[in-house]
Formats: sequence, structure tokens, C-alpha cells
Amino acid sequence: MEITIHRWCVRGFACLMVIFFASAVQDTVWNHDKPISRVPTTQKVVALTVDDGPHYKTTPVLLQILRKKKVHVTFFVLGSNAALHPEILAQAVADGHEIANHAYSHVILTKMSRNQYEEEMDKAEKAIVAVAPKPRLFRPPGGAYNDGILEAARARGYTTVLWSIDPRDWRRPSVDAVVKTVMDQVKPGSIILLHDGQYPLPTPQAVSIIIDRLREQGYTLVTVSELLSHYEESR
Ligand SMILES: [Zn+2]
Repeated sequence: MEITIHRWCVRGFACLMVIFFASAVQDTVWNHDKPISRVPTTQKVVALTVDDGPHYKTTPVLLQILRKKKVHVTFFVLGSNAALHPEILAQAVADGHEIANHAYSHVILTKMSRNQYEEEMDKAEKAIVAVAPKPRLFRPPGGAYNDGILEAARARGYTTVLWSIDPRDWRRPSVDAVVKTVMDQVKPGSIILLHDGQYPLPTPQAVSIIIDRLREQGYTLVTVSELLSHYEESR
């Protein structure tokens, strides 16, 4: 009798642990309690993300390169720039890229009231959905967030996404420096932060080289939404 009870206790405990870990993983990926900076996976998949556009000069050049290389990226667009250049955003959609929300005017949301940051999200979404599908991903400007911002994003159906590699291309380092930072730091599940919101930038040329180098190393480039489907437990 005692042995039976002991066995049930052990089994019960194991079951509880399985349920606990399963729900923890579920929370991380689907309930979005925290922003996602990298996707734990053993598969050689990475996502290029491009913030702050569309820009009338930089984005078309980048789109041309991505078309030639047959790569889909995730554009975290500013609502203000989407409203200014809807035709460029429409081209990005037509090319198969993922469009995500980067707020309307690139203000730091943690310095705003709840009403103000909710308006930033909603105004951006309105400008985006004029030419693109409803975005599912949100990235706060500067990566600045708090619980209220995460909650507001979640309530609007967004997963908040940050990044794991930042070559600071917006500061206009050399093409080689951007490529080196990415290639030195890349690993399965990396989310790479790049920009297309100004001109000139080393980014389009760097992206072309980064794609080739990543492929040489056996990596597949996917959108962030695709990357999320590669999530593996306990990594
Ligand atoms: Zn930005």
C-alpha cells in the first residue's frame, strides 16, 4: 500500500512538472508576457528585421536586393512613413515581406501616458492596414517598454518583438562593420536589427553580403512570424 502511494506521488509530481513547464513555454511564445528577442531553436533559421521606413530612397533599393536574393524580411514600419509612402509599403507587401507595427512617430513610449501610446499603436495600425494585412508583431521605438505597453500591444493582438543582434547601422558605420557584427554574433534563432528610415545607410549593401554569408553557413532567412514557428522547448 505504501509503495503504491509512493508511486502515485512520484507520478503525480512528474505530471505536475510537465504541466508546469509546458505552460511556461506556452506563455513565453503565445501569451507574450515578455518581448521576444530571440527564438530558442537548434535549426539554422534567422530573421532579418528592418525598422523605421519606408524611406523613399533607401527602401526601394533594399527591396530590389531582397527580390534578387529571394529573401523575405520583417519590416517594422513607422505609421507616419507608411502614410507618407503607401506605394512603397504596398510593394513590400506584393514582394511577400511581413509588415509589422513600430508605432506612429518614433517617440519613446515609456515617456507617454497610456492614452498616448495606445494612440501611437492605433494610428500606426490604421496607416499600415490601408495597404497591408493587419500586423501581428509590434516593436516599440528604441526597444523601450513597460508592462502597460506590453499589455496594450497584447490587447491589440500583437506579439512584442525586440532583437538579439544590433549592428547599429543607423549610425552609418562601414558596410564591413555591419556585416562583421552580424556574422560574429549570429546563431540559430537570431533576430537581426537593421534600419531603412534614412539615407544614406550602409544597410542595403550590407544586407546583400549578409544574406550570402548566412547562406554559405547553411542558414535559412525567414520572417519573424516564420521564425516563431521554430520555437523549441528548453533551449
Ligand atoms: Zn526604430
